[in-house]
Amino acid sequence: MVPSRFLWKRTLLQRGMMAAAFFLAGSISFAPRTAAQGPLRAAAPKALQAPAKPKLVVLLVVDQMRGDYVDKFLGQWTSGLKRLVEEGAWFRDAAYPYAATETCVGHSTISTGAFPSTHGMVANAWWDRKEQKMVTCTSDPDPSVKNIGYAGATPKGADTAWRMAVPSFAEELKFQTSGATRIVSFSLKARAAITMAGHKADAATWFDGGAWVTSSPYGTMPFIEEQAKSHPAKADFGKTWVLSLPENAYWYGEKALGAVPPGGWDLTFSHPLRGKTGVGEPDSAFYEQWASSPYADTALTELAEKAVDALKLGNSSGTDFLAVSYSSVDYVGHEFGPRSREIQDILVRLDKDLGDLFAHLDKKVGRGNYVVALSADHGVVPIPEEMQQTGADAGVLHLPEVQERIEQTLESLNYAKPAVARISGSDVYFATGVYEKLAADSNAMNAVMDAIRTVPGVAAVYRAEELRDRPATPPNSTQSSAHRAFAYSYFPGRSGDLFILPKPYWLLDGTPLGKSRSYGTGHGVPYNYDQHVPVLLMGFGIQPGQYFQPITPADIAPTFAALCGITLSSRDGHILADALKKSSHATASTRQR
Ligand SMILES: [Zn+2]
Repeated sequence: MVPSRFLWKRTLLQRGMMAAAFFLAGSISFAPRTAAQGPLRAAAPKALQAPAKPKLVVLLVVDQMRGDYVDKFLGQWTSGLKRLVEEGAWFRDAAYPYAATETCVGHSTISTGAFPSTHGMVANAWWDRKEQKMVTCTSDPDPSVKNIGYAGATPKGADTAWRMAVPSFAEELKFQTSGATRIVSFSLKARAAITMAGHKADAATWFDGGAWVTSSPYGTMPFIEEQAKSHPAKADFGKTWVLSLPENAYWYGEKALGAVPPGGWDLTFSHPLRGKTGVGEPDSAFYEQWASSPYADTALTELAEKAVDALKLGNSSGTDFLAVSYSSVDYVGHEFGPRSREIQDILVRLDKDLGDLFAHLDKKVGRGNYVVALSADHGVVPIPEEMQQTGADAGVLHLPEVQERIEQTLESLNYAKPAVARISGSDVYFATGVYEKLAADSNAMNAVMDAIRTVPGVAAVYRAEELRDRPATPPNSTQSSAHRAFAYSYFPGRSGDLFILPKPYWLLDGTPLGKSRSYGTGHGVPYNYDQHVPVLLMGFGIQPGQYFQPITPADIAPTFAALCGITLSSRDGHILADALKKSSHATASTRQR
């Protein structure tokens, strides 16, 4: 027996459906009104509204932020980073599934929702077999493309996203919303600002040689010119980076073993921004110090706030896109390592900058009208000398030694010298024709693989055909996670011929033999310390909480796409459905202004 109230409901629903069907038919056939239609039309429900959309999508990338920094330092944060955790969705098991954990790769993955095997940005730079030289991921050989400097600067080079094989989320948003979207991105690095924005943008701005820079496909913006003139980086000349917290709040002692500070600084606080000489005009050492200090993060935050004001981001008819990649944590991490006071302190300062940025967005766009994602492009390995002190098997894998052993092996088998064109990170590129010859000469191929394995710190070597012919399989298959990671990184034509997997805590280092390293530590391999990064979402449509399912930063763009009601062309990531409010269109529509 069906209770009468349900019968009533069903009747209304049926009537509604009939009315809707009639309305649709009527809109096509222009059926004349009759008296019989009157009551039916009167009972028709309101047409379903399209879900509300965020007014502004904000993408924040912290260059080189390990996932465990949030666990370690959260208690010392009081502002923006804390707010992201408290008011947002915190994904505690987010990691890149691929091997090439580098800046250009990570930013492209976040912006497109695809892995490098799809988006093609396989490294910061790779060996171009046709050009027979190293090319950076953003270098554009088109003679009509030029980098443009603000405030009278004359930068070299030409940088665009032409090598990125799929569109970014921001580009898709602009294309699929009839151009109402404005795309703005900032970073100290071209490979971050450009990949976050995509092939075209209203503004994509980075820092080069002491000046803010863009390139011809992006054009220039008057508000950036004004900021570059009124608050240039050199205005921070003479400032000093001092510890923000009481001394006993720091996890680590000073002078990390193996750390290499920028020129003009030593390993102890405080760090003066006075260049090499300490007097006069800012020199290149000053800009290196500035980029390795919290002042650069603050400059990026100010630029982002100026963009919100000047372009009225979040106040147009569409959804706008603002991206900032904070580069300084990366410089500090390379110099001082992850176990340093500098890393801990720069995050305390970044927490304050992000708090300022969110307060600005609350005021200008409206709390709840914008959605934020914060992630990182990769993590970092502790400085090997420091790791060795703990008794762990750690060290430096010298890539020039790998190259030397390959050459010696092939010379003894009558191969012409040089057989190796370049070793860049994990990727070994052979001279033209050599790898094809090796593939047909199993004796020589095995000798080369054995020679590489004798170099201290090498765990395994993979061949291109193992990755290209046996693509990445689901995590529960028999394929090892490292093998799968190299397959997710493999892009035909750009990736190497052989791939070196170091042992855990062994740093891949290309410094010429006999010379000392010009940096403390690095990243770029398929171990969790490089792959595990934070993913935090906050604001429009986001269900706060802690989430423990394994995800990847490639899930950010599909989640943004779901919130904005658009479709990505080539995603590898998935929508983070658990962190989305299921009734977002009902609650958000009341917030529309
Ligand atoms: Zn990076």
